[in-house]
Amino acid sequence: MDDKNYSFDEGHDHNKPADVWFQDTQEGKALFIVFYSQACRWSRCIGCNLPSLMSERHVDFESLMAQVDHIISMPEVAASRAELRKVIVSNNGSVLDEATFSSTALMYLVARLNQSLPNLSVLSLETRPEYVDIPELEFLARALKEGACHTNLEIAIGFEAFDERIRNDMFKKGLSLKVFEKTAALLAEHRFALKCYFMLKPTPGLTDEEAVGDIHAAIDYLGVVGASMGLPINMHLNPTYVARGTALERSFDKGEFSPPRLRDLARAAFHAKGKGVSIYLGLSDEGLACEGGSFVRKGEEAMTRELERFNRTGDFAVLENIINGA
Ligand code: SF4
Repeated sequence: MDDKNYSFDEGHDHNKPADVWFQDTQEGKALFIVFYSQACRWSRCIGCNLPSLMSERHVDFESLMAQVDHIISMPEVAASRAELRKVIVSNNGSVLDEATFSSTALMYLVARLNQSLPNLSVLSLETRPEYVDIPELEFLARALKEGACHTNLEIAIGFEAFDERIRNDMFKKGLSLKVFEKTAALLAEHRFALKCYFMLKPTPGLTDEEAVGDIHAAIDYLGVVGASMGLPINMHLNPTYVARGTALERSFDKGEFSPPRLRDLARAAFHAKGKGVSIYLGLSDEGLACEGGSFVRKGEEAMTRELERFNRTGDFAVLENIINGA
């Protein structure tokens, strides 16, 4: 673990997920699951303290299967069964890394989703690209076809920043364009979809203009990659919050970093209009921001609600109004 001083959540009940919440997306109601497992084995990205919600030690497949049962039996999930169109599966790392997330538990999850969610149209799996294994995905996709409705598989990859220097030298993502394009081509060939997580202003030393410009460049790039490969790509754009226990928090304390403005988030996302890349705006800091380190400033709650409306509708006029201060 580079330059981080958080601890792991060793006291968590192994039979319960780390977190579960609902999202309203253009695809319909979505369930976001964060399983409690062994932490991300990369754990180097500078602004990330997601591993702090995980275990330092291995969590066995029986516990992960118990977490699946727990989620399916939650009253709010049971009440939304028919409405749920999308499930996003995370372990704050890579659910396709079998060293941290059991393959047995992944198969069990697919079986329980097939049994329980009759209208599921997308299953999204978060992972680093090095764990993408096409025979495994084909097997999961085949199993998903046995559900009551057709369910597409989407692979969600953390990209974070388009600029190579920001992404790898500063943020320490460890992702080259070559690896990304190879993964995208494999997904396209097998007709899976791709989601890419990006962060607006992920590191200190970036002006707000440079941060917005990086997302514009990313949208242009993803538009070209998606069109050339016939691959549906969604950008999940998170404004950066100051995560506790990271190098970013120390920069924030020294006055070297301030979180991005929501208006700049709207400016960054507006660039996707007509580019063939769908956008979802991440508007939660998952309770991991330090004091004063969130991107939602006092008095901006109404703007947050408007951005949530954009997530539901995909209506770029909502962003235009925010940009123009309407
Ligand atoms: S951003 Fe993802 S890959 Fe990087 S340390 Fe955090 S969980 Fe691991």
